[in-house]
Amino acid sequence: MNWDALIEPLRRLCTGEVLRAEPMRRHTTLRVGGPAALFYKARSLDELARISEWTQQNQVPTFIMGHGSNLLVSDGGIPALVLYNACERVEVGTLTYAETGVSFRELFLKTAQAGLSGLEFAVGIPGTLGGALVSNAGAYRSNIADLLGEIDLVSGGERIQVSPDWMQFAYRDSLLRREGAPPTTLLAVKLRLQPDRRLEILKRARHFQRQRIEKQPPESSAGSFFKNVYDHALAERLPNLPEPMRKAGVVPAGYLIEACGLKGFSVGGACVSRKHANFLINRGWATATDFRKLADVIKTRVRERFGVELEEEVLSVGDWSRFNHPPNMP
Ligand SMILES: Cc1cc2nc3c(=O)[nH]c(=O)nc-3n(C[C@H](O)[C@H](O)[C@H](O)COP(=O)(O)OP(=O)(O)OC[C@H]3O[C@@H](n4cnc5c(N)ncnc54)[C@H](O)[C@@H]3O)c2cc1C
Repeated sequence: MNWDALIEPLRRLCTGEVLRAEPMRRHTTLRVGGPAALFYKARSLDELARISEWTQQNQVPTFIMGHGSNLLVSDGGIPALVLYNACERVEVGTLTYAETGVSFRELFLKTAQAGLSGLEFAVGIPGTLGGALVSNAGAYRSNIADLLGEIDLVSGGERIQVSPDWMQFAYRDSLLRREGAPPTTLLAVKLRLQPDRRLEILKRARHFQRQRIEKQPPESSAGSFFKNVYDHALAERLPNLPEPMRKAGVVPAGYLIEACGLKGFSVGGACVSRKHANFLINRGWATATDFRKLADVIKTRVRERFGVELEEEVLSVGDWSRFNHPPNMP
């Protein structure tokens, strides 16, 4: 792909500057990742829609990103136009309209201020609403999919409105995480929220936030690296698994990693947090390759000990061909 040749036609669609070889480590919470072939920060929804229609119609490899809090970008970077979504407009009401570049935390604060309940679980989840939709982000038994109305998006080169069914939501999953998904830009959504007393909403959010501070390591990470395992037979045979989890057949990935003795284990600058075994943290000098190698060691040890294949919640982006690990994205 001749990226330099694409800059001129893109300039005609963009109001700001298109960057060449922008280091992705500046835009990911893991603080790793090589250069994006092209990088553009879209600040208005019409602009984001216009560029997405053009790239889809012309088969230009494109990667839409929010705040990079769920990404492992390879050291070789992303061979695509990276569109950073900075479209943040929100109109608050029981049917709240929100552009997908708004931060999840900001969206919670705005709706809570207006006495609308539903997003309390979102208070400590970093990232944008768009990123939350793609992975059906959630916590404390709530998920973003539960609140959704109509979605405004660009797919197949056209701007369309769809119902939530289009996204095929599942646990930390949607159509857009799966192989062969059509290139899609989520633009805006409507969310159904419930009126409640502001103080009650803030009390619930504070309670969740306190639990998070107790459990989460403060270092750079991408949150939970692996998905929890839903397996009743496994949950039955594990000693010391808390009773509610045994009943629900849920085994936290962190439980399995800790049971393999991997807390504190590191490869280069990437390390399994001692505070929470499902958090892989950057000790300051990690490369993306360190994280890939560490994740692979964890998966092997858990497979050997428990016969379980851990699935990654963090999305791998870029060139991972050296690792026999297909990227989830370009
Ligand atoms: C400390 C920490 C705690 C976390 N806790 C939680 C938690 O409790 N629960 C949870 O579910 N997650 C958690 N996460 C993970 C992460 O914050 C969420 O997945 C978040 O929703 C990702 O949003 P983002 O904007 O950073 O997305 P990014 O990481 O930028 O992108 C993630 C994916 O979404 C796609 N994408 C983003 N925006 C769009 C768009 N507009 N259109 C199309 N595709 C798009 C990207 O292409 C990519 O595939 C945590 C992360 C951290 C660092």
